[in-house]
Amino acid sequence: MSIQFKLSDKSTRFTESVIRGMTQLCLRHNAINLSQGTPAYQPPPEVTAAAIEAIQEGYNQYSITWGAPTFRKAIAEKMTAFNGIPTDPERNVTVTCGSTEGMLSALLAIINPSDEIIIFEPFYENYGPDTIISGATPVYVALQETTASDGTTRFTYDAAELAAAFSPNTKAIVINTPNNPLGKVFTTDELQQIADLCCEYDCLAITDEIYEHMIYDAKPHISIGSLPQMRERTITVSGLSKAYSMTGWRLGYVIAPETLTDAIRKMHDFLTVGAPHPLQRAGAVALHLPPSYHEALVAKYNKNRKRLLTSLTKAGFRCHPPEGAYYIMTDITDFGFPDDTAFAHWLVKEIGVGGVPGSSFYSRPDLGKTKFRFMFSMADDILAEAGERLMQVKTKI
Ligand code: PLP
Repeated sequence: MSIQFKLSDKSTRFTESVIRGMTQLCLRHNAINLSQGTPAYQPPPEVTAAAIEAIQEGYNQYSITWGAPTFRKAIAEKMTAFNGIPTDPERNVTVTCGSTEGMLSALLAIINPSDEIIIFEPFYENYGPDTIISGATPVYVALQETTASDGTTRFTYDAAELAAAFSPNTKAIVINTPNNPLGKVFTTDELQQIADLCCEYDCLAITDEIYEHMIYDAKPHISIGSLPQMRERTITVSGLSKAYSMTGWRLGYVIAPETLTDAIRKMHDFLTVGAPHPLQRAGAVALHLPPSYHEALVAKYNKNRKRLLTSLTKAGFRCHPPEGAYYIMTDITDFGFPDDTAFAHWLVKEIGVGGVPGSSFYSRPDLGKTKFRFMFSMADDILAEAGERLMQVKTKI
């Protein structure tokens, strides 16, 4: 008989990732996996060559815990030029093991008991466990589909609901632009409204910009840290996973004012010591690639986006075209399933396609039970095959 130890309360307050669970289900049923956001592509060849070279040249021991100097310098230059946030590699940059660790290190550095953080929902599923691990109290604000006077729809929040979410206990608001799972790109007006509230309530903005290079239809990416008075109260979290198709390299970073950076570096040091040193050397090469590299990648994603949107619409899903990132959040009400999880299992087993039940992106699962997310970072032929399979949804129900 195995001995039962009492687990920490925190560890019992969240479950295994729903997305990883869907991946397992797809593997068991040989289904096309449009659930997990793993890029379909390989990193640029000059970047993989630089990684091999760095290993051969002997960069095989720890780097400085908060990041190899060449990588931090490249990050600071990119933040200054692309994001419009003047960044000093010595004072403002912490290199982390992916933006996942960056977000958690940032929260651990700022949260005290009774601190609240505002989170827009639906949200990237890690933010739930992040609040539990860091001890923050989450306050949720809904992102809802609204129709403009010209008939176009977009996801936004209710300004009064947002203002009401702020209180003297608010420590920070978490923003994710472009957003996973909705593909929403926050506008300057929205970010300014959020910035004004941050100044009024003297709190921080923590912004996850991992999809900053994946924006369609020529919309701009705005970093809230570049808005007036926000540099001193913004923590920007990002990384190379998505923009360079290297999720397995675990290269992320956190940009913050100096005092915050000192605290974030301490959390990071004792959590992971550091990101892989030879890969950081290659990360600097990646960050020096010209804008044409990102333009070519986004063109590929845009083609995938259009293809999957067409397939899903033909198959009877109600879709909202994403403005950024590589996910499509659909509405499955018309298919008449009791909930999104039942639909997810049916879709894998009967149609051979996997996606993510929408409820996993909400604090109140009920809000997401008519929603279902697909991702479109897939090879052309697999997306085409998924489209053909999805055409059977209506006939097989
Ligand atoms: N942030 C968002 C919004 C994501 O969707 C993901 C991955 O899917 C991550 C962070 C994780 O990124 P990283 O590989 O840098 O940890």
